[in-house]
Amino acid sequence: MVEPNSLDPQDRLLVEEARRIRERAYSPYSNFAVGAALRATDGSVHVGCNVENASFGLTLCAERSAVVSAVAQGCQQFEAIAIAAPGDDPWVWPCGACRQVLAEFGPNLTVFLVSESGKVARSTLLELLPHQFHFPGSEAGK
Ligand SMILES: [Zn+2]
Repeated sequence: MVEPNSLDPQDRLLVEEARRIRERAYSPYSNFAVGAALRATDGSVHVGCNVENASFGLTLCAERSAVVSAVAQGCQQFEAIAIAAPGDDPWVWPCGACRQVLAEFGPNLTVFLVSESGKVARSTLLELLPHQFHFPGSEAGK
């Protein structure tokens, strides 16, 4: 666990943005609202929230929502993401699909987990997905 006050200002902002955007989540089925804030290498911050669907398999996680938003705005290289989720125990880690999507744009991204009460944990994408898939022979995603 990381003391939120010990975070540098840009990481603290990322954590606060993830908590703020969580309120925009569309989660009428699970009531499990998640927000994500993704920081690109140019310093810009892009947010996303989970968007559920009556056809559950179509639900989009907050992390991938943030990636899509960032790419649509021209950013494709990221250095950190904060993910704010309900509850305080256990930590809510990104799902496998989101880990692989994040690996495409930031193989060693710093990952902050933010609990409902504001507790923060820090990891890296390389720790969460050590053997990332990258298209053989392609420089994309590296
Ligand atoms: Zn996910």
